[in-house]
Amino acid sequence: MSDPVLKVENLTKHYPVHRGILRRQIGSVQAMTDVSFEVARGETLAVVGESGCGKSTMGRTVLRLIEPTSGRISLEGQNVTDMPRPELREMRRRMQIIFQDPYGSLNPRMTVRETLAEPLLLHGVTDRAGLDDRIDEVLSLSGLSSFHAERYPHEFSGGQRQRVGIARALATRPGLIVCDEPVSALDVSLQAQIVNLLQKLQRDFGLAYVFISHDLSVVRHIADRVAVMYLGRFVEQAPVETLFSRPLHPYTRSLIKRVPLPDPTRIRDETPARGDVPSALSPPSGCAFHPRCPMATDLCKEVRPESRAIGETFVACHHAEQQLEARVVAPVERKTLARRLAVLEKAGKIAQTPTNTKNHKAGNTR
Ligand code: SF4
Repeated sequence: MSDPVLKVENLTKHYPVHRGILRRQIGSVQAMTDVSFEVARGETLAVVGESGCGKSTMGRTVLRLIEPTSGRISLEGQNVTDMPRPELREMRRRMQIIFQDPYGSLNPRMTVRETLAEPLLLHGVTDRAGLDDRIDEVLSLSGLSSFHAERYPHEFSGGQRQRVGIARALATRPGLIVCDEPVSALDVSLQAQIVNLLQKLQRDFGLAYVFISHDLSVVRHIADRVAVMYLGRFVEQAPVETLFSRPLHPYTRSLIKRVPLPDPTRIRDETPARGDVPSALSPPSGCAFHPRCPMATDLCKEVRPESRAIGETFVACHHAEQQLEARVVAPVERKTLARRLAVLEKAGKIAQTPTNTKNHKAGNTR
């Protein structure tokens, strides 16, 4: 990748946990550990995972809204990890964030004009003489009109408020925008409008996006590459179509299987991850996913898998190669396959042949 806008190396954020009168440290919440990635100009890296897996912590740490425990962050070639506050303020102009809840992120006592004027003047993007023109420009770019500048946040619909959030992020002419679940609070038609707007702005200004989401349908639409996060670590990174067509990590597979199917005659492959996400205060030994993984072995319980390249994919799983072998079908998947065959037979889409029955009993899927 040539000159990434954002380069993150081994970024870690652990929160110490204290107890007692003496406030002794008794452990730490491992919100994010050893996260590394790059994002190029005009590229979208989506970060997906269940709630509480560390996605938002990662997004805020990248922008230094949260101070990292260790690691390195480079924005447009400059190391911002330890950058002093005055210099960091200048760099903040180049990195912005769009929040999930636009209402919560806007000051209810400020008009849109005041909300947009604040970063423009603070970062010296324009002087007072050029302020109104720049405000009108970013409102127009975000699909709003000049008269919206005099309104307060409560006077907007959810979709319009998110457009105000986009206008605010856009105002300082950033190179990088962290989009933290920007459409998850909106209904489906508004989601499509906001996603299309983000894509247009990216094309027009070469913006780099880190797009945080738990919605894989949206991610498939907007992302160039996808990173899957589990308990604060990236477990798989790949170009978007590679990840969806050939997921190598069992956790990725379980996330993809939860995406709604448009065809009612299809049965969902029910091999989801078992149970809940473990506590980040005491992650499981070895592979942190092993208590929920249908493919876990003794090795998984003892040794944490390192991330390694398989083709275009980086994956942290001892048994990732098995996902490539179409003949290998986990026992739970065989049951699903049997149910799928039964539905297809019932619907008359395949003949009810002894061969199918025989193959099913033998666990032969080919
Ligand atoms: Fe499952 Fe083992 Fe791979 Fe972890 S390393 S995802 S437990 S197969």
